[in-house]
Amino acid sequence: MNGRGGEADVSKRVAIIGGGFSGSMLAARLAEVGIASTLIDRTGAFGLGVAYSTPFDGHLLNVRSNRMSAIDGRSDDFVDWLTANHPDRADPESFAPRQWYGRYVQDRLAGVEAVHPGRINRLTGVAVAVEGATVRLADGRVVGADAVVLATGNPAPRTAEPRLRGPDSTTDRVIGDPWASGALDRIGAADDVVIVGTGLTMVDMVLWLQAKGWRGRAVALSRRGLMPRSHLAHHDTPTVPTDELLRGPASRRLAAARRLGEAASWRGVMEGLRPITAELWAAADTATRARFVRHLRPWWDVHRHRIADSISSAIEALEAEGRLAIVAGRVRRIDQTADGVVLDWRPRRGPEQPVLTGRWLLDCTGPGHDPASDPLTGPLIASGRARLDPLRLGLDLDAQGRVLGADGTPDPRLFVLGPPARAAFWETIAVPDIRRRNEEVVEALL
Ligand SMILES: Cc1cc2nc3c(=O)[nH]c(=O)nc-3n(C[C@H](O)[C@H](O)[C@H](O)COP(=O)(O)OP(=O)(O)OC[C@H]3O[C@@H](n4cnc5c(N)ncnc54)[C@H](O)[C@@H]3O)c2cc1C
Repeated sequence: MNGRGGEADVSKRVAIIGGGFSGSMLAARLAEVGIASTLIDRTGAFGLGVAYSTPFDGHLLNVRSNRMSAIDGRSDDFVDWLTANHPDRADPESFAPRQWYGRYVQDRLAGVEAVHPGRINRLTGVAVAVEGATVRLADGRVVGADAVVLATGNPAPRTAEPRLRGPDSTTDRVIGDPWASGALDRIGAADDVVIVGTGLTMVDMVLWLQAKGWRGRAVALSRRGLMPRSHLAHHDTPTVPTDELLRGPASRRLAAARRLGEAASWRGVMEGLRPITAELWAAADTATRARFVRHLRPWWDVHRHRIADSISSAIEALEAEGRLAIVAGRVRRIDQTADGVVLDWRPRRGPEQPVLTGRWLLDCTGPGHDPASDPLTGPLIASGRARLDPLRLGLDLDAQGRVLGADGTPDPRLFVLGPPARAAFWETIAVPDIRRRNEEVVEALL
């Protein structure tokens, strides 16, 4: 049925492109409600995706275990799994290794497959085109379906793209996709590293290098030099959002958030906003969204996507040792030399500073969303079947996650789920948000 090179038709009702958390858990829910699917993933490691395929057990979840159930309405599911599989680390308030979470998702997928045999058809391959409700794979296979869901996750970073590349891969000292398998293997134990980006990926990479025995120094640069804030040891009680916070001009709402944060706790304010973020985003006009993205987003990201307290302490220890420095400024130019990289930069404040040098440059700038040049979505946009949202954050979608065509008509056969749906929902990155959206997509497909 899945023969390579031919035009085999593996007809199923829904074709899901991407077998990470979003795609796998959608396939599982669809199977439970009686809808068959073909789950297509280029890695073949169904259920893991980028976030949960890390082999390093020091990479912890950044959401507490009791919030990480994969199933909407069954809040204890992940904690129950931990209790069965890792009873010594089943504290609901703790942050479990991401690797374990991957196994949990895989167990859930396999469990549903065992109960509903034949409803999920796993296919390892690269989807290269969506035509109608048919998906074409790079090797020529064709998956016929009644609807297609794009659950392709976050793309690799784009800043350190080919213009920075060395003359050949053996001399290339720019690590453009730090999540690519073996990407860090070339970094020697004593090598100094220049990192562009000071967010979650930077934190992951520095800790991973450290665990691999690296003892060099790193300097990480971003425009504002902001780092993810830390969770407290215990759950942050949500602050109920006030009217002032929810209505009126953005500047007044920001002032209200600051006042509430000072009066109680900023973490509580963020937790209070979390369940209604998608609604607030949907209600905002394009100008408000644009102001948020331009001015507030870096602050939102570091307060909203927090790291476990133990991870934060490990990063602080590296800073205290003088092995990690965070600087704020703009990249002016990056050159590769025989010895490594030289990054010329302009500090955000204060006088000019010397160039940053290291043996390697790690691009930790985060996902490089660009649906217009993506091989899968670019042609959909070019043909008018899809369009970019006004801020070019991603494909324009309706409230159900259906792709809007050039004329604004929703396509009942084409959906987006997970991080690429951010133009419509903003926060659709973490598990608690995705599992809710998952139910909405299931509902729409039903
Ligand atoms: C490093 C990291 C840590 C994170 N930690 C947490 C956390 O602790 N808690 C939390 O709630 N969230 C976390 N997240 C957020 C994370 O985005 C979600 O939890 C979730 O994993 C997203 O899953 P996804 O399936 O949408 O995307 P992905 O995990 O990116 O999976 C997409 C899959 O689609 C495949 N694919 C893409 N294009 C094609 C194609 N054309 N053909 C075939 N296959 C394709 C990819 O290979 C990949 O396997 C983290 C994210 C990252 C990157």
